[in-house]
Amino acid sequence: MTTPQVTPVVPAPSLAPAVVDLRGIRKVYAQGDVIFEALRGVDVQIMPGEMVALMGPSGSGKTTLMQIIGLLDRPSDGAYRLGGRDVTTLSENERAGARNLEIGFVFQAFHLLPRLNLVENVEVPLTYAGVPPRERRERAMQVLARVGLADKARNLPSQISGGQKQRVAVARALAGRPRLLLADEPTGNLDTRTSEEVMGLFSDLHAEGTTVVLVTHEDDIGAYAGRVIRVRDGLIESDRRQTPRRQMERRALTGGHP
Ligand code: ADP
Ligand code: MG
Repeated sequence: MTTPQVTPVVPAPSLAPAVVDLRGIRKVYAQGDVIFEALRGVDVQIMPGEMVALMGPSGSGKTTLMQIIGLLDRPSDGAYRLGGRDVTTLSENERAGARNLEIGFVFQAFHLLPRLNLVENVEVPLTYAGVPPRERRERAMQVLARVGLADKARNLPSQISGGQKQRVAVARALAGRPRLLLADEPTGNLDTRTSEEVMGLFSDLHAEGTTVVLVTHEDDIGAYAGRVIRVRDGLIESDRRQTPRRQMERRALTGGHP
């Protein structure tokens, strides 16, 4: 009897550059004569299609790191390549342009404009990006449908629930077809059931190929990611891959068969 030959699977080297490539990132805040180093030398590479959770205690530097990744702030030192392009040396205007094109941001407080209806809210970044009105409306309706809210397009934010507001914010982040979807504590204002619904949406988007980076201090939320990076005192404490919660649930349902 011959033993079956097991061919090791050698992954083909990826030709795509890291979506996020941070090297030696430092961020110093000066308040009067007091200097505080919020990030003290951070190296992170995130590849296309990853879903990463940044975790760590309050004050550890998570938001500072997200703001740098999202081009909302610049590092005091270090190099940042976004999709292979050096963005450390861009001017304010160039950074705003790159942010508009490449990044979708979701915040804890949904930041919807109260006087605009939902489809108009989703259109806002497309207006800034100079997308003509008809195409704007089409794309906004598409992403609203993607998050399951097409039938509420004409409602005002005050007429929908918190979970629905966050889904609109996700739609708005997706409207510009960004390279990278960032979310800072996206479930921070939501109850457990609604949090699971919003995380289910992020998991679906990830399954469709979207690169997702989210900040959370809740283990239940971090469990949705395929990789958890822990930040402490402005440094990366650990960086581990894991089976995302969605996949665990699916395995449990199928008795371990894919
Ligand atoms: P986290 O999101 O992990 O709670 P932050 O990145 O918001 O942490 O903050 C990290 C540290 O940097 C905290 O000690 C915070 O007080 C400090 N910090 C953040 N933003 C500023 C700022 N604009 N000026 C001064 N200190 C700041
Ligand atoms: Mg924070």
